[in-house]
Amino acid sequence: MIKSVSGTQDILAENSFKWRAIENRIHDLMRLYNYKEVRTPIFEYTELFTRSIGEQTDIVSKEMYTFEDSGDRSLTLRPENTASVARMTIENNILRANPQTKFYYIGPMFRRERPQKGRYRQFHQFGIEAIGPKSAELDVETIMIAIRFFESFALKNITLKINSIGSKDTRDRYKEALKDFVRPQLDLYCEDCNKRFATNPLRILDCKKDAEKNKNAPHIIDFLEDSAKIYFDRIKELLIYNEINFEIDHSLVRGLDYYTDIVYEISSSDLGSQSALCGGGRYDYLFEEIGGQHTAAVGFACGLERLLLILEEIKYNFLQNSIDLFIASFDDDSRKYVSKLADKFRLNNVSVETDFLKKKVGKQLEYANKIEAKYVLVIGETEIKTGKANLKRMSDGFLQEIDLISAILPIL
Ligand code: AMP
Repeated sequence: MIKSVSGTQDILAENSFKWRAIENRIHDLMRLYNYKEVRTPIFEYTELFTRSIGEQTDIVSKEMYTFEDSGDRSLTLRPENTASVARMTIENNILRANPQTKFYYIGPMFRRERPQKGRYRQFHQFGIEAIGPKSAELDVETIMIAIRFFESFALKNITLKINSIGSKDTRDRYKEALKDFVRPQLDLYCEDCNKRFATNPLRILDCKKDAEKNKNAPHIIDFLEDSAKIYFDRIKELLIYNEINFEIDHSLVRGLDYYTDIVYEISSSDLGSQSALCGGGRYDYLFEEIGGQHTAAVGFACGLERLLLILEEIKYNFLQNSIDLFIASFDDDSRKYVSKLADKFRLNNVSVETDFLKKKVGKQLEYANKIEAKYVLVIGETEIKTGKANLKRMSDGFLQEIDLISAILPIL
């Protein structure tokens, strides 16, 4: 028996409608904000990720699925989509025609992490990228989209944390200050942090094991240049004006090299240890890192498996699972009639299921109940002769006679 790869999941038929419901919600929401969907390849040249995400990050140093193809080029399954969207934007010269460009994507990402609840090796992200302007209003728009997205599922217990990591220069100065703080007690820090100290000291702030020791660490916002400080103040002002609750988290630096200025994370206390639902920020260095011109950009990525975990926990009612109409039949004559009748209903946009197992009518109705059909019709000799039948509303048994020739479901 060949099994699925550890950390991957099948989306079974009883769950796929939930995915579609989430995806539909995303498409609807994105229309409201004028973001356009893009779909980039699942694999890219490895350099795209090493140059953008950064060699010293966990993703690049240990989590990428990288392989050589027969042309001896090193390819990598995308661990995230921001770099690909930036590459696509440069390659297709998109900003020239549209200096205010807004994209979104939904799709699988691949990281070789240790699988556990909420953490997979193939997982799905919904993300947005707003490219062109450097604008605090745009940064706040991206945050508001994420918040509105989660609110639209009535999620409670979500927290928005923000921080500013300023420019590269700020970060270089801060890294030294952080190292000066950690150095005297470095041997008390965990093994990973000892490695990070040399390679990626900012990540020391992410460490759960050493959180207590980091309590008195210097804050990066105290190292911001004046312009970055003003910019961050403007973002806070806009969030307050838009009545979006937030906390400032001095340990929030995000793992990736390409971020600048605002970084943010939305988490849910309903999620246990993998509590991050969404991470984002401004990434004005990314485009030049991969060979483009300096380009301002901001965006986020949300993990859809984690959203689904919460929705299942709160027993979110997806509704879309049910079908509109089940049509029961008695014999070959009525089955023949129903094959045409069902088709007529479907042409009128009504979803219909029928019986193919030749079960007794009573059993067919039990099945209609099981698949949560909203309405039921039973077609026999009389109904065929008169062209009329009683439509039964399953929620309360209400009956209404309808005309089978027009095959329209009345609004009851
Ligand atoms: P990141 O690209 O690391 O900023 O992640 C953005 C979001 O994607 C996180 O907040 C998670 O919700 C989700 N995510 C990241 N890695 C995984 C993973 N291995 N499995 C499931 N979801 C993930």
